[in-house]
Amino acid sequence: MSMRPVIVIGAGIIGASITYHLAVRGADVTLVDAGLPGAGATRHSFGWIGRSPGDSSPAGELRALGRSHWERLAREVRGLEVHWSGALVWGEHFAGRGPRDTHAATREPRLVEPPRHAEFRPDDGWVDPVRATESLISAAREHGASVRFGAPVTRLVTTRDGAVDGVELGQEILAASTVAVAAGVGSTALCATAGVNLPMLSSPVVMVRLRASSGLVRGIVANDQFEARQDVDGTVLIPLDYDKHTSTDELRRTGEEALRVFMASFTGADDATLVSAEIGWRPMMADEKPRVGYAEASGLYVAVAHPGITLASVIGHAAAEEILARTDRDEPAAHRSPGTA
Ligand SMILES: Cc1cc2nc3c(=O)[nH]c(=O)nc-3n(C[C@H](O)[C@H](O)[C@H](O)COP(=O)(O)OP(=O)(O)OC[C@H]3O[C@@H](n4cnc5c(N)ncnc54)[C@H](O)[C@@H]3O)c2cc1C
Repeated sequence: MSMRPVIVIGAGIIGASITYHLAVRGADVTLVDAGLPGAGATRHSFGWIGRSPGDSSPAGELRALGRSHWERLAREVRGLEVHWSGALVWGEHFAGRGPRDTHAATREPRLVEPPRHAEFRPDDGWVDPVRATESLISAAREHGASVRFGAPVTRLVTTRDGAVDGVELGQEILAASTVAVAAGVGSTALCATAGVNLPMLSSPVVMVRLRASSGLVRGIVANDQFEARQDVDGTVLIPLDYDKHTSTDELRRTGEEALRVFMASFTGADDATLVSAEIGWRPMMADEKPRVGYAEASGLYVAVAHPGITLASVIGHAAAEEILARTDRDEPAAHRSPGTA
């Protein structure tokens, strides 16, 4: 085995999962991030795992795989909590292929106006994205992974023939057997330093956080007006479309509007308060498909995917297998069947 470690750039949910899966397989792996774990898109995420009942498209199958790998991770990783709360969805945008459900009032008893017909997705769940990222990294470290945080990678280091064999951290060069770029929206710029084109079309979303009494929202609730879930500490998360906000005042007003909608939708929400309204960027490839696999430059592996929380579990597994096998196939690893992923 090479004496050089695998270097994973990006301690978001995807890089954390790759690092964990490499470390449990005994690989020498170093995880590098410009900031703290989960400080990128992961920090702003709603954390919903699932979303595609009856969807037999490749994207739907991949999400189903993501779900089953989260079940495995919840068993394997100490401190990792996956909340299989189910999701109650209705309205034009969300309700799709699943059977109609008439138990909305008992599933979400605090809804002021429970829908007469909704769809309940019992297999859906959520994680606190930052805590999940931290749990994966702790477990990776227990298995010997090294970490370098507060360490921006300034470029990928290449050999004369264009192979990637390290990363530059300011004045320092770290040699690597493979460099896995899981740097979210920063991936394009990093890959460009090795001459690799990675066209991305990332999109902004506003994440509103409220403080509210615990137990108002039992699972995930989504309809044409709002999506909401409540964390164990009472924090309510409401993602909203980005509406060309140009100032923090505009963002705050969006947050206040979300607060009004939430108060009107749930009994017992009168004392809810606005905590924050922030913009998060969803890392996404231009063709909206996951990009997971070796890149054109030898030694360079790329892992960028949306929806990244749902898929991080299966991507971490597939990427670790592929990096350790040093395979170089055309098809993204995460698109393969569970047996080979
Ligand atoms: C508001 C919102 C809601 C969402 N809701 C959901 C959801 O419900 N379900 C779902 O599945 N997905 C959801 N997503 C998408 C999901 O959050 C992302 O797909 C996922 O977090 C991406 O993780 P990542 O590890 O690829 O990227 P990131 O979390 O962005 O991590 C990339 C890391 O790379 C680091 N980095 C970048 N450049 C460098 C560099 N040069 N040197 C060193 N480090 C670097 C960054 O610091 C960062 O920590 C949502 C996203 C948003 C914004």
